[in-house]
Amino acid sequence: MPVNGDIIILKKPHACGGNEWQVTRTGMDFGLRCLQCGRNIMLPRRELQRQLKEIISKDKKEGTLEK
Ligand SMILES: [Zn+2]
Repeated sequence: MPVNGDIIILKKPHACGGNEWQVTRTGMDFGLRCLQCGRNIMLPRRELQRQLKEIISKDKKEGTLEK
């Protein structure tokens, strides 16, 4: 599971079209911030496990995700 500060990719894109999120809180519920629009959401742990496609550590973010 991702840790605080990780960048993750979810299978289902956000309403804004972005699918990259930063983890802002971990626990029973995970807090995620959409990197595209900056919106914060809460996702139950089980739901996140289902939606999680990829974990990108924040250290790797620079360079690997440039478009
Ligand atoms: Zn968004």
